[in-house]
Amino acid sequence: MAQLSDDCFAFGGKLMTTAEARTLLDARLTPTADTETVPLGDALGRVLAADVVAPIAVPPHANSAVDGYAIHFDDLARDAETRLRIAGRAAAGHPSGETLPRGAALRIFTGAPIPPGPDTIMMQEDCRTEDGTVVVQPGIKRGANFRVAGEDVAAAQDVGLAASLGLTQLRVRRRLRVALFSTGDELAEPGTTLRPGAVYDSNRYTLAALLRVTGVEASDLGILRDDRDTIRSALARAAETHDVILTSGGMSTGEEDHVKAAVESAGSLYLWRLAIKPGRPVALGQIGRVPFIGLPGNPVAVMVTFLRIARPMLLTLGGARGHEPTLYRVRAGFAYKKKRDRREYVRAWLEPGADGAPVAQRFPRDGAGILSSMVEADGLVELSEEVTTLEPGAVVDYLPFSEVFA
Ligand code: AMP
Ligand code: MG
Repeated sequence: MAQLSDDCFAFGGKLMTTAEARTLLDARLTPTADTETVPLGDALGRVLAADVVAPIAVPPHANSAVDGYAIHFDDLARDAETRLRIAGRAAAGHPSGETLPRGAALRIFTGAPIPPGPDTIMMQEDCRTEDGTVVVQPGIKRGANFRVAGEDVAAAQDVGLAASLGLTQLRVRRRLRVALFSTGDELAEPGTTLRPGAVYDSNRYTLAALLRVTGVEASDLGILRDDRDTIRSALARAAETHDVILTSGGMSTGEEDHVKAAVESAGSLYLWRLAIKPGRPVALGQIGRVPFIGLPGNPVAVMVTFLRIARPMLLTLGGARGHEPTLYRVRAGFAYKKKRDRREYVRAWLEPGADGAPVAQRFPRDGAGILSSMVEADGLVELSEEVTTLEPGAVVDYLPFSEVFA
């Protein structure tokens, strides 16, 4: 199994942009997930560990795209009907086998193999038959309705394509095993009675759902109390049986933020101060060789940092490539002011504007703890570092949640 270097998260601590963070992570992370072979029926959503090499062409033989008559294009008169003798019949799964001579037509059905000779298939709607002959209209193009052997092999590596190659199993990356914890003395498990001062743990449920759609195998390991030694031993134990450890909360530098100290004593920890709102800081470290990702506690910051930092990390460690979500250019339906040099994520949704083109509307309240704002929103408007004021009507980047959380 590939290993990360033991200083792969080392970082000097200056404020950095998301782009800088991503460049560093891309350079330092490699896939650590092992590979396994799974039956085709279980391969949906898995990351291929090796290219699928087509053992055969698909389709394996030239075949007809329509019901009609296979003919030699050069037998056709340009401006008049042509009469051809019907020399045989081919149906799907029942090849005619013989070469079709010039001057003859082969009755053929969709999917039937085309024998040597003909280069064009006439649709039956454009022909009429008269005692053993077919009368063909002029005007067809050479090669019409002729499916070439192997025409769709290069298209994609999806499950149906693999099946069309006759494969029954695929070599894929083993799903990353992610240990998931929440941290905080104030957290209560949903379903229990709230003590004074307590809040229900929502992050673990948010993250478990996000991990699931990211295609990893999450172990829900519950809530860790704000106590350094408890956290330290729970993390060390989790590192023995997982590929990644993910926590939320306890990462600021307050007196009650013990996760930082616990990870430092069990391994290494670096606070990556990201110039993003909501979000910073994100802690990255290792316990043994197991990467540790410590997200902030605020529920909205959890989602944004998961999306922008943890998700791409997990996908890279799991062997996936090309996983950058697509941002769409839309018009802003709101005004906004922000600090320069920081990337801000504004909770938003799309509505059709006066001309029908999409306009991003902003959720009015933007506290990092207001989880309902994420429910109301369908995506994030991403305002880059250099933006300071936004006027309604300006074109902005919009990231729909469906790009990443579907
Ligand atoms: P912390 O980073 O631990 O200081 O937490 C920042 C804020 O997020 C506090 O208001 C916490 O109560 C809240 N918070 C932390 N973890 C969770 C969680 N798992 N579920 C809901 N709120 C949380
Ligand atoms: Mg806390």
